[in-house]
Amino acid sequence: MKCFKCKGEMTEGTTTFVADTDDCCIVVRHVPCMKCGECGEIAYSGKVSANLEKIVKAVRSAMAEVTVVNYREDVA
Ligand SMILES: [Zn+2]
Repeated sequence: MKCFKCKGEMTEGTTTFVADTDDCCIVVRHVPCMKCGECGEIAYSGKVSANLEKIVKAVRSAMAEVTVVNYREDVA
């Protein structure tokens, strides 16, 4: 996979995703992603993006101002 910004080579890795909304900040750790070796650009697959949305929605209802969760594939 090529970086869409600089055309550098992207490799698989994990990153920390931060959802910073008006009333809270949710940090999701160990999220699988593609990372550019040249400029550091991060890209998520469609599946991971969808899962991140579900995780954020699931966590928002029952959380304090700052919550840190681990990425997971199976979101209830
Ligand atoms: Zn790049």
